[in-house]
Amino acid sequence: MNPPIAKHALAAQIEEHLLCTVGVASEDATQTDLMQAVAQVARQQLSQRWVETQAHQRAAKARRVVYLSMEFLMGRTLSNALAALNLTGGAAQGLMQHAQTLEDVADREPDAALGNGGLGRLAACFLDSMATLGLPSFGYGIRYEYGMFAQDIQDGAQVEYPDPWLQDGTPWEFPRAGISYPVRFGGWVEHLNGTPVWRHAGEVAAKAYDMVVPGHGTPLVSTLRLWKAVAPAHIDLGAFNTGDYARAASTKNEFENISWVLYPNDSTPAGRELRLKQEYFFVAASIQDLVKRHLDEHPTLGNLAEQVAIHLNDTHPAIGVAELMRLLCDEHGMPWAEAWALCGKTFSYTNHTLMPEALETWPVALIQHVLPRHLEIIFRINKEFLEMAARHRPGDNAFLARLSLIDEHGERRVRMAHLSVVGSHKVNGVSALHSDLLVQTIFADFADIWPERFTNMTNGVTPRRWLAQANPQLSSLLDGTLGRQWRLDLDQLKRLDEYRLDAEFQGRFMAIKRANKARLAAYIEKTAGISVSPDSLFDVQVKRIHEYKRQLLNVLHVVTRYQAILANPTADWVPRTVIFAGKAASSYHTAKSIIRLIHDVGSVINNDPRIAGKLKLVFVPNYGVSVAEVIMPGADLSEQISTAGTEASGTGNMKLALNGALTIGTDDGANIEIRQNVGDENIFIFGLKTPEVHALRQSGYQPMRYYESLPALKGVLDAIAGGQFCPSEPGRYRALVDSLLWGGDHYLLLADYESYIATQLRVDALYRQPAQWCERATANVAGMGVFSSDRTIREYASQIWNIEPATR
Ligand SMILES: *Cc1c(COP(=O)(O)O)cnc(C)c1O
Repeated sequence: MNPPIAKHALAAQIEEHLLCTVGVASEDATQTDLMQAVAQVARQQLSQRWVETQAHQRAAKARRVVYLSMEFLMGRTLSNALAALNLTGGAAQGLMQHAQTLEDVADREPDAALGNGGLGRLAACFLDSMATLGLPSFGYGIRYEYGMFAQDIQDGAQVEYPDPWLQDGTPWEFPRAGISYPVRFGGWVEHLNGTPVWRHAGEVAAKAYDMVVPGHGTPLVSTLRLWKAVAPAHIDLGAFNTGDYARAASTKNEFENISWVLYPNDSTPAGRELRLKQEYFFVAASIQDLVKRHLDEHPTLGNLAEQVAIHLNDTHPAIGVAELMRLLCDEHGMPWAEAWALCGKTFSYTNHTLMPEALETWPVALIQHVLPRHLEIIFRINKEFLEMAARHRPGDNAFLARLSLIDEHGERRVRMAHLSVVGSHKVNGVSALHSDLLVQTIFADFADIWPERFTNMTNGVTPRRWLAQANPQLSSLLDGTLGRQWRLDLDQLKRLDEYRLDAEFQGRFMAIKRANKARLAAYIEKTAGISVSPDSLFDVQVKRIHEYKRQLLNVLHVVTRYQAILANPTADWVPRTVIFAGKAASSYHTAKSIIRLIHDVGSVINNDPRIAGKLKLVFVPNYGVSVAEVIMPGADLSEQISTAGTEASGTGNMKLALNGALTIGTDDGANIEIRQNVGDENIFIFGLKTPEVHALRQSGYQPMRYYESLPALKGVLDAIAGGQFCPSEPGRYRALVDSLLWGGDHYLLLADYESYIATQLRVDALYRQPAQWCERATANVAGMGVFSSDRTIREYASQIWNIEPATR
């Protein structure tokens, strides 16, 4: 590892970069200039590490994992890079002569928000763990010009703005001038003497931009390679030469729009053809890149499966199965059977959802249009697979129809999850419950054929970002109590159990939570314009806005509490601040309506003098990684209230518990494993369990029954539907309430309401006893060791990828 640079040397480097790289006089440097200069200091060291790591892995001919993901929700890089390089203290000192704190300077960096939510953030945590464990690894994705939209709130409603995160450049990317691959689309397939030849209609170049991912406690780094779409240089020079610049530019744009924008939708495929092109674009470039690297080190592709594991983060890169077959067979002349065996050893796939509407399918006609050769390959894979399946269960045609890669109901569609399962040797879910449900529901038929193919890898989060970086005060308490090793070995947190009843520890723990709440309160004041008291219970639900996550159930509780306080104002209410944050997909009308309702209810409650500060409701705008880093440490209560059986895992639940919040949640996703690790007495579990949800739906769920039998619920729904929170437009939430009462209440809010409200009262009771609360919060932190993404990645490495982490 590089020797730590003397602090004064670091200050000098910052000055040097201000002058020579940023190009400003030291005394004129703005916070943004300083951010750029400090980033350059880190960049220099990272590039040195990058070159050394690559050389080492090439020499060792190490087996690598290639992680394909449409999304990487990275957030900011500066503080993480400085911590990994051991430069935090030096950089802070270097900034002192500019009278700036490192925190303020780091805040000037825009988030790299190349993802929607949990799936993209998981990929980012995994990169951190892969680098830290020293796994030879490459992440591959798309260099979106515009990431996740920025959310603004106008009159209580979400408004989306583009996110031009690259506008001023980023110090963290390394354009790789020499690395570019052609990616082809369209046309038709000719069969010349049985040899298929793809006569493509269009071509675009994929250019590599690398982001270096520093490992912590190791000089090893990893790489996130992002592809930018560029029109081939020769494109429409004719138009240019005749002076038709507008046409030349529009042709260029037609090619380059492939990497322009992240689709702001985490459940249903949108933008149809362009989205399919994006998927193929980054997969084709990535696979060409890994094949080239292999052939640089090995004489043939015959041993590709021994040298590389390719992981599909959800089905977005599933077309890679067909692409690798195409490359091996059509371009490298490998026999089909050999290529297919190689593919099966190389690919593995993570499923992220059971919900049918979120499972990706593509019309056969669209794939025919965009990727005609791939469609042929998919048909052949399917034919051979169904022949095998027919031998497994002779005469059962319904079985074959369910398994087929092609959905034949209505418009024929390719089922990308089926392609992923058939093309992989391992398929995993992301929590114990989710993995069990996978083989009982959507993949039951596949599990009948290949039971050993299905496994579980419970998600995790990186403790470097979600504890060390986000919560420096708690981190230093942990350092003083346990030593510093927890950053790399989160199981060390278990030893906190010894301090749960230690008065001095408790006092410091509570003071830190208080300070983090004060910081969050200041952030709320600044961004939402609402003043909240850090002495109230901070009740937090932060995540994408979606019906299955049931933010609306949380609102029903808030209104219930509001009405109860009005009915009984002198009772001993525990003051509460209910905090929401999250984005709704721009086309998701119901989710946007829920955001509006939160604002409308908030403006009534927050301005009602009769409530006298006993209840506040706030919505923090523009949720993202950096906003999460402020919210997580300031939470007392973590809301994880999805309908049982719908949340694959959740990772927000882990971040909040790691920062000492108690969970109120359903028996869903990783909540179950959190309960097992922190103990039943340290978590608030309520509501129907998965089999009960199933049974209730089977028996004919009647939401109206709950409305009629629970007066408090009736009062709340009547108030919302009757326009009490939006007198200027009383019908605004009629449809939302009708979807519960008359529309079947698909996510069973009314069925879980009573249990949820009762459990919230138990939360109040515990909060009245600060020492008890603190003891339980400590138990939560102590139990979170297993939810480090280092543990998750070790499991992937040993059970799926067969890759050795370098030992330190
Ligand atoms: C962790 C995280 C998520 C995932 O949250 P869930 O509660 O698991 O849905 C989404 N967005 C951001 C910015 C995150 O940091």
